[in-house]
Amino acid sequence: MSATPTIAFDPARCDGCGDCMRACASAKSTHGNTAQSRIRIVHDDEAGHWGVAQCRQCGDPRCASVCPAAALAKGDDGVVAWDAGRCVNCLICTAGCTFGGIAFSADEGHVVKCDQCAGAPQCVAACTRGALRYVTAAKLYNRWGELEDLFVPGLGGCQGCNTELIMRHTLRRVGPNTVLATPPGCIPGMGSVGYNGMLGCKVPVFHPLLTNTASMLTGIRRQHKRKGRNVTALALAGDGGAGDVGFQSLSGAAERGEQILFVCVDNEGYMNTGAQRSGSTTYGAWTATTPIGDSARGKAQDAKNLPLLMMWHGCEYVATASTAFMEDFYAKLEAALDASERGFAYLHLYSPCTSGWRFPSASNIEVARTAVETNFAVLWEYRREQGLTLSRDIDDPLPVTDYLKLLGKFRHLDPAQIAHIEQHVAEQAQVLRELAGMRSREGKRIVCHPSDSMAVDLDQ
Ligand code: SF4
Ligand code: SF4
Repeated sequence: MSATPTIAFDPARCDGCGDCMRACASAKSTHGNTAQSRIRIVHDDEAGHWGVAQCRQCGDPRCASVCPAAALAKGDDGVVAWDAGRCVNCLICTAGCTFGGIAFSADEGHVVKCDQCAGAPQCVAACTRGALRYVTAAKLYNRWGELEDLFVPGLGGCQGCNTELIMRHTLRRVGPNTVLATPPGCIPGMGSVGYNGMLGCKVPVFHPLLTNTASMLTGIRRQHKRKGRNVTALALAGDGGAGDVGFQSLSGAAERGEQILFVCVDNEGYMNTGAQRSGSTTYGAWTATTPIGDSARGKAQDAKNLPLLMMWHGCEYVATASTAFMEDFYAKLEAALDASERGFAYLHLYSPCTSGWRFPSASNIEVARTAVETNFAVLWEYRREQGLTLSRDIDDPLPVTDYLKLLGKFRHLDPAQIAHIEQHVAEQAQVLRELAGMRSREGKRIVCHPSDSMAVDLDQ
């Protein structure tokens, strides 16, 4: 599969100025009229932000498949090209494309669509706010696509659940030289340990208790080392198996610096047993054990910040990640894998739950992305030698309500509860901002180093 360049749009950065449309119209239309632009910036009144109507240069383009004259085709350069010589002006393609990517131009007398300006899109060059970026869509695939998928096909997850995505990508990157531990939760429930004596994945798997994943992995890793084998000891655990009853063994292994890669898949509850609340469940959320009624309005406590707790253990590596930002996720997996050769590595993945959080199964990635863009889930990483760094800018987030309104579990929230969540999100972001910028009086960068009882100055 070859890399496919595409134009990515970030609604959080778009202010609707229309510079991209003017640039496109002057480059591509006969009259320079923005009505002829091949990119259209439109306001989404319901979502409250600007959106884009533009050709996505689809891998399997609907416009091409509905065209009776074969006037549209995907080229080797990734661009879906229109052939004036074949087009019969039937306009069927304009109905075939659901993205508004191809439209009839009265001035030109035929359909027009984006051709990416031969690799130098004028709309992208004109966008000073960075809302448009020219990216290579298959970069990730080209880099990692040859690695083996170590889970069998047909895992039995809920429709739209992104846990399978996490399981497949994590194991694909970590590789076959791995022993996997999956305590009770959605991951074994989905079939990683298999059914009827069959194994659900292609590496050795064991199924510890909810409480002892990290201590069992400790023993397994040490025994392999004793035998002269350098295997990756990997945990894929839910937030209950990591942060609630599993925390004592997790904390102990982290404090001892065991050479383990521990991935927490945080879906904010005990979702495979009926959506009960956990320590990670957000304040105000409906769960089976924090119901809505005359005297109860969802969970009464704030969620604990498990990745920050892990950072204060002084682990070799701690990071947060999201399936909506896969390149960031892969980079952090790589760093965590490397760090687990020296000590304890912890990766915290935000994992929206379609059934327990009550949102449509097609929206999982949108929910994950909005969580990050509203600062509800901040992406950061901690390395022993560098301290905490933010993975993306958190200074201009979308309103927290953009995230809350996506989820049925928050539908009942009253204004006071929303204000409480907004304040909590702002406070957490501020804590991370300050940790990321921590400086001594001399202006030098400070990190918490586990081998010292005091903060150390990095620049000394
Ligand atoms: S015009 Fe529409 S269907 Fe055709 S490639 Fe572009 S986005 Fe896809
Ligand atoms: S208008 Fe042209 S490109 Fe579009 S479907 Fe008809 S023949 Fe194909």
